[in-house]
Amino acid sequence: MADLFAYSNRRPESPANGCTYCFDPVHTADLICVTDLWRVRLHPKQAHLGAYIVYTARHVLNVSNLSSAEFSEFGVIMARLEQSLERAFGAVLLNYSCWMNYAFRADDPNPPCQNGVPSPHVHWQIHPRYDRDVEVDGLRFEDPTFGAP
Ligand SMILES: [Zn+2]
Repeated sequence: MADLFAYSNRRPESPANGCTYCFDPVHTADLICVTDLWRVRLHPKQAHLGAYIVYTARHVLNVSNLSSAEFSEFGVIMARLEQSLERAFGAVLLNYSCWMNYAFRADDPNPPCQNGVPSPHVHWQIHPRYDRDVEVDGLRFEDPTFGAP
């Protein structure tokens, strides 16, 4: 578990816009996969085994600004990752969240990023859920609130 948290500490300083998602994939140690339009990386907090973040390759501020190609490829990526987590760890379901709270500022709807926060960059946090304990590489992962938020 400790190694999973360490991955996020290996990233270089934020790029010029300060966004925590606008890194060249080569500088993202916890990258799971890359497509032309999307990136998938391990969630720095493994509150649920296999939690990950899916984010656009380009800096997009709102879901409504995604292209049809990005929406289409998003569906393909999510289907493949869902199947992978089911096969690899026995995930029963996946929770998806797209929180855009940092994307809005009343005085500046397109705020500059500061030290990576806020990051008004479209992304989803995915949390696989398990109805039983799962052991991976000698570590036991529990999901004591399975079936509840
Ligand atoms: Zn960005």
